[in-house]
Amino acid sequence: MNIILFGPPAAGKGTQASFLCKLYGLVPVSTGHILRLSMANRTPLGAQVAATIAQGSLVEDATIVKIVNAHIKENVGDKGIVFDGFPRTKTQIEGLDGVLKERNRALDCVIELYLERTVLCDRLKCRLEQSLGQEKRSDDTYSVFLKRLDIYYKETRAAIEHYERRGVVVQKVYGGDSIEKVSASLKNILDVYA
Ligand code: AMP
Repeated sequence: MNIILFGPPAAGKGTQASFLCKLYGLVPVSTGHILRLSMANRTPLGAQVAATIAQGSLVEDATIVKIVNAHIKENVGDKGIVFDGFPRTKTQIEGLDGVLKERNRALDCVIELYLERTVLCDRLKCRLEQSLGQEKRSDDTYSVFLKRLDIYYKETRAAIEHYERRGVVVQKVYGGDSIEKVSASLKNILDVYA
């Protein structure tokens, strides 16, 4: 099973991706996680993307498609994948088409977690308050969060609409309920592919 989990920042994609990986024996491919790891390990890639991430902008498509390809070749084997935070642009969608074709796999399901902007902002404020005094991600400030939200609604939603124009049914799941309720909704949609 190969799934894309779309959703704005603070929608809970990472949490739900972990749940789905455990439930169905899938491997998560999170470009945000791969990039943050590169920065923490002070690799050349980490140095290259640090400023872009700190500003909340998108890392260029060619870099993203390259790291996804390399990550899958090194870590995924023949397991199914939950894509979290990728693809985010039309060019990345084309990159993903290539990745899947090379693996001789198809995309089984595209899901978008949706939430009201006000709920996302409240979640972020809570997260920032709870993490006061702790080490934070370079992009975990309120102003950068607002920029990431804008980019989601402008660019990533256009990527979702690109799938819809191709005739792909994008399943919409409300992400503002409890973690358990959102997980149950996802399971309900995905059990048919297991
Ligand atoms: P995330 O944790 O997925 O929200 O990603 C954190 C940051 O990493 C984003 O704000 C971007 O700067 C960068 N990033 C992650 N995934 C991508 C992607 N698919 N395309 C471009 N930039 C990305």
